Amino acid sequence: MTPGDYYQVLGVPRSAGEKEIRKAYRTLARKYHPDVCKDPGAEERFKEINQAYSVLSDPDRKAQYDRMGHDTYTSASRGSYTGGGFGGGPFGGFQADFSGFGDIFDTFFGGGPFGGFQRTAQGPRSGSDLLMRLQVPLEDAVAGTDREIEVSHSEPCPACKGSGSETGKVVNCAKCGGTGQFRQMTSTAFGQFVRMSTCPECSGRGRVPEKQCPSCRGSGHTRTKRKIRVHIPAGIETGMRLRMEGFGEAGEYGAPSGDLFVEVAVLPHDRFIRDGDDLETAIHISPAQAVIGSAVDVETIDHRHIDVHVPPGTQQNAVIRVQGEGVKRKGRHGDLRVRVKIAVPKHLTDEERGLYHRLLELEGKKAPESGGFFGDFMGKKRKKKDR
Ligand SMILES: [Zn+2]
Ligand SMILES: [Zn+2]
Repeated sequence: MTPGDYYQVLGVPRSAGEKEIRKAYRTLARKYHPDVCKDPGAEERFKEINQAYSVLSDPDRKAQYDRMGHDTYTSASRGSYTGGGFGGGPFGGFQADFSGFGDIFDTFFGGGPFGGFQRTAQGPRSGSDLLMRLQVPLEDAVAGTDREIEVSHSEPCPACKGSGSETGKVVNCAKCGGTGQFRQMTSTAFGQFVRMSTCPECSGRGRVPEKQCPSCRGSGHTRTKRKIRVHIPAGIETGMRLRMEGFGEAGEYGAPSGDLFVEVAVLPHDRFIRDGDDLETAIHISPAQAVIGSAVDVETIDHRHIDVHVPPGTQQNAVIRVQGEGVKRKGRHGDLRVRVKIAVPKHLTDEERGLYHRLLELEGKKAPESGGFFGDFMGKKRKKKDR
């Protein structure tokens, strides 16, 4: 099943408020929880419901989702392995850290009517999800890019294909008879107590390897570092998560691996500020350029040079809009806003000073008297600095 629009997943209208979304989520989560619903595909559906709710219940992420649309928001490549080994070289430009990625279900239902949702011994558990944080330069968030990341996760052991058994066969656990539960009788002065606990031999799975695989010592998993390619779609914003299906931890034998979520943090840029899909940069022009108008060379975020037309009579802080030079989102590109700063020259040639004096005269305004206190003071300061 391909995951649909998050509103469709929860079956609520786009106008739905926090309460309605929460209510729909609770209803569906109860219905499709893998311990309750045994339909094929229930677990997948349950994951989708959680995914949808984790976005729509968070005001910031919901706003992003609404603005970007489903495809861009969730866009992520399935990824592909690039080479088995791991070079160990630094990944220029970004850092990664991994941490467990808890199921939000726990937060909402801990101690609720379904208190404690214990997994039973019957189904093999799918692998847990991983969360990785990735720092992305603004250039890459604007244009989109493919990045290679390194993920450290568990995979099914290649020697035993994940079974944990040298023979590839798993058998009922002898200690618990395949129930996964272990009965312990304790005699005390008050009588006999029967204590049920998870079978230590099979960890509650009920099944054990027929003959322990020597490579993974029966666990069925090996820890590996993999390089994977992540597609970062244009327009990505800080806090967005890309889902890399199947790149989480390995599941129990016969169950799928978890997913890897790559959470993006867009780094600030020294020349550009982002505002939604628009970018803003500043240019510094002379008073003459502001008065007469001018063509100014501006370097775009992808290092092209464009001529920006500054019209005559441009004021300080005026904004000139260059269409389509912002974030390169599919469909509609953002704009580049060029903010004009008028730089007053501090050092003039004699000819320039003469022309400014002439302008002052034409405006009928007085120049400071040369040789006066003000002139002297400025003169001394200049000399000191020159030396
Ligand atoms: Zn057992
Ligand atoms: Zn093995």
